[in-house]
Amino acid sequence: MLQKTFDHLERIYTEMVGIRRDLHMNPELSFQEIRTSEFIANYLKDIGLEVRTKVGGHGVVGFLKGGKPGKTIALRADFDALPITDEKNVPYKSTVPGVMHACGHDIHTAALLGVANVLSHVKDDIEGNVVFIHQHAEELAPGGAKSMIEDGCLVGVDAVYGAHVEVNFPIGQVALNDGYVHAASDAFNITIYGKGGHGAEPHRCIDPLVIGSHLVVNLQNIVSRRVDPLQQALVTVGSFHSGDAHNVIPDKAYLKGTVRTYDPVVRLQVEKELTLIAQKTGEQHGAEIEVNYTKGYISLYNHPKETEFIRKLSTEIVGEKNVTIKLPDMGGEDFAYYVDAVPGTFFWVGGGNPDLDAIYPHHHPKFDVDEKSMIIIGKIFISAVLNS
Ligand code: MN
Repeated sequence: MLQKTFDHLERIYTEMVGIRRDLHMNPELSFQEIRTSEFIANYLKDIGLEVRTKVGGHGVVGFLKGGKPGKTIALRADFDALPITDEKNVPYKSTVPGVMHACGHDIHTAALLGVANVLSHVKDDIEGNVVFIHQHAEELAPGGAKSMIEDGCLVGVDAVYGAHVEVNFPIGQVALNDGYVHAASDAFNITIYGKGGHGAEPHRCIDPLVIGSHLVVNLQNIVSRRVDPLQQALVTVGSFHSGDAHNVIPDKAYLKGTVRTYDPVVRLQVEKELTLIAQKTGEQHGAEIEVNYTKGYISLYNHPKETEFIRKLSTEIVGEKNVTIKLPDMGGEDFAYYVDAVPGTFFWVGGGNPDLDAIYPHHHPKFDVDEKSMIIIGKIFISAVLNS
């Protein structure tokens, strides 16, 4: 049956390319994906799936009941675009100024619709059920995953799988890794309340700019001196604004930054240390310092057993030499919430191809990938369902 479904997937490749290009030409920003979610819902209904719309927002969930008892496997594809102007010179270029599928979520969506189509034709032979999670708003916190889970998209699900096309791997390769692969991603805003005055009279002021400078340096102690060196953490101050004249001591300073961690305990530790250091730095200089700490996505932990399962299936599909390791990074991805709730894994499928000009990084105005990656994503998903 596996080969039959693979052949079917190859036969509908042109249709999948059509869907991908239609989505590419009509991208929608996170939380605004009206047309895209309607398109997905209609497609899933047309092929005979039970469909739930408006799941946790613009999310769409398709349900395929297999003819025999077995596990329920969820497959997830995200479908939002980015606030970037498409600078490619291709017929399927974005028609929406300032909005572009620059991360490949259109590829994920078209691939998963293809999988749903193929599996719907063999449903009587499927042992178990398949849940197709089409998720809105991956690019913008708080994201769509959390609200879709709260709205029940994982109820009864035994395992969940997600794929990301990746231009840094060539077409034909699959990359994966167990354990933490993406970081928890938090943001902080710090306001330093000093006392402004004349630049020639610092003794009559409380200079928030100097205090802010101390604070930027003091925050470097968290990663270098406070966090266990065998753990992963980063603190980046990305913005520091205060004052705008040569001879004026301003009364406020503003810092913004990001915190990335893997382990939830380390995550809490960094938040506590950051808040404490800000408060103590303020006290040392007689200034009030306010910290606003916003938690973003949790870290993404790939379960070992499910990762090994996908590694084995990928080897059968693309050959052992084309299955490689995806090194962990400090980026964020809200697939993290699915694998926090049920076992599963998130893997990467190569989409790089210099012949097609698919060489630019994700979120670049000329980003593009080899559409054949949809076949590989599709085969791995189908294989995961039929072998579960
Ligand atoms: Mn992405």
